[in-house]
Amino acid sequence: MRRLFHIRNDCQEKVSTELVRTKPSRIVMEQLNIQGMMKNRHLARSIQQQRLYSFKKKIEHKCGKYGIQFVEVNRWHPSSKRCHSCGYVKPRLSLSERTFVCDSCGTTMDRDLNASINLSQYGA
Ligand SMILES: [Zn+2]
Repeated sequence: MRRLFHIRNDCQEKVSTELVRTKPSRIVMEQLNIQGMMKNRHLARSIQQQRLYSFKKKIEHKCGKYGIQFVEVNRWHPSSKRCHSCGYVKPRLSLSERTFVCDSCGTTMDRDLNASINLSQYGA
């Protein structure tokens, strides 16, 4: 268990360093409803093990160190439900829907990619 902890921590260090090395002007992260996710027994254990809070802290710290703007988006922002192309917001989107299909303009793409584009445009 201790070994696994070190592997994960090491991985977080590497990924966060790689991110800031690409010299972005800013990094936008979404606030996750971790407590809410912990209530889902299928997710609870893996979420706890991933130590997302510590990952966020590492990125935030490195952004500060290299003068990169760090933006944390409120968890109520509909990054997943919103179509990055036309702005339509889906009333519902279940966790099992991995592909985003816009009911308004028909845009179809990977759910996480659509959410990432929305986050990258946040406040811009
Ligand atoms: Zn659309």
